[in-house]
Amino acid sequence: MAYKINEECISCGACEPECPNNAISEGETIYVIDPDKCTECVGSHESSRCVEVCPVDACVPDPEHEESREQLLEKWKSLHPGETPTVT
Ligand code: SF4
Repeated sequence: MAYKINEECISCGACEPECPNNAISEGETIYVIDPDKCTECVGSHESSRCVEVCPVDACVPDPEHEESREQLLEKWKSLHPGETPTVT
């Protein structure tokens, strides 16, 4: 399941450099996560980096993008061709 950033976001920008997939960018009013790039950090980290660094807990699972761990890993592989995932 991809994560999303909810309206609690204060646009501090802490999450953007932490994402291993470059899925986070500054939107018109708050930061946004591209669900095509978010793998819940599967492939790179044990837990979701944006969730860990967000000071207002604005990064939350997006129920509109439900995916299995296998699907998330396949997404990671397509985003990092030729690389080996460190977390499967
Ligand atoms: Fe990026 Fe991980 Fe947050 Fe998804 S959960 S947006 S991959 S930092």
